[in-house]
Amino acid sequence: MSQRHEPSAWSSEAGPQIEELPSPSHGGSPDPAGGVGDAAAASTSTLPTGLSRQGRPRYGEGALISCDNLVKIFKVADLEVVALQGLDLLVNAGEMIAIVGASGSGKSTLMNILGGLEVPSAGRAVVAGFELTSIGRRERTRYRRRVVGFVWQQTARNLLPYLSAVENVEMPMILDGRRKTRARATELLGLVGLPDRLEHRPERLSGGEQQRVAIAVALANEPKVVLADEPTGELDSGTSLEVFALLRRINEQLGTTIVTVTHDPVVSEQVQRTVAIRDGRTSTETLRRTELGDDGDHRAISEEFAVLDRAGRLQLPKQHIAALELQHRVRLRLEDDHVGVWPDKDGAKAGSGTAGSGTAGEGDDR
Ligand code: ADP
Ligand code: MG
Repeated sequence: MSQRHEPSAWSSEAGPQIEELPSPSHGGSPDPAGGVGDAAAASTSTLPTGLSRQGRPRYGEGALISCDNLVKIFKVADLEVVALQGLDLLVNAGEMIAIVGASGSGKSTLMNILGGLEVPSAGRAVVAGFELTSIGRRERTRYRRRVVGFVWQQTARNLLPYLSAVENVEMPMILDGRRKTRARATELLGLVGLPDRLEHRPERLSGGEQQRVAIAVALANEPKVVLADEPTGELDSGTSLEVFALLRRINEQLGTTIVTVTHDPVVSEQVQRTVAIRDGRTSTETLRRTELGDDGDHRAISEEFAVLDRAGRLQLPKQHIAALELQHRVRLRLEDDHVGVWPDKDGAKAGSGTAGSGTAGEGDDR
């Protein structure tokens, strides 16, 4: 459960911290520009679009998906469950990222917000220029039909049982008022490797095949983003890898931006960026790339970064906290190229908790 008390953080930051973001694809709109956490931001109309007063790009500028200090609170009877507590996330067009995190950490809540199915309680979520916090019902429907495609974990939830595969793929196009849907649906089922399953109903398809059809359904209206919430959660590991390979191929061939939640470390290792969510916030990001070694071989490099949020907060990995028995208060010291963190125990263990420079100074507009 992610209910935590952080009175000072909430009371001092919740208001002014929420900065106006420009809509990424509507760059010319007259957006009230925002400096860093400055509610009384003076007019910056003389600045080029997308630049803050410091002349650096504003948070979220140029990203296809931008979540800024997202908060989602569910009210259940008298209880409030804080599912997201100030989550920041940026995803560029054409990226494929994996989201990982313990059960209950807020992954599905984030996906549902990005899918236009839930409205955030506070903060900002902008996808392809659609301001999800404030769009009206009609725009929201249009957004859900055209801008995002969704693949759920439960295979049964993705498809209508009484329609054939090809009819399932046609359905979102028909709802969107498109014609000549059969040709495109057939083409999409070919793309996902099921050219010979057009007339099959879901009950006659295997779990993996059903998820392939679901991916074709998600792609029907040429979405900018495909959101997949544990799409392989009900599949065996071999089939999982195949379905995941299909998502990667779609990302590469069609350039569709893909955000997928997964429990499977093997799966998350195959994307260039994995974002970990802990207690409703992005905590770490793992970046992967290949590098040419001295011996001429390509090596896979994977680096984990802590995410520094716009208020300067970061989550220390649990292992670090345990190893140094950190609690409640820590000492910080700024060095030339890094920040040191020490337990607050009689000044003991000095120097043992030095954090590398990678955790500080990720130079965006924070
Ligand atoms: P994950 O997908 O990472 O397992 P969720 O986003 O589903 O996590 O849930 C995050 C937290 O929000 C959990 O504590 C969960 O119980 C709660 N939650 C999610 N959806 C609802 C809802 N519709 N009503 C009440 N609580 C919810
Ligand atoms: Mg979930």
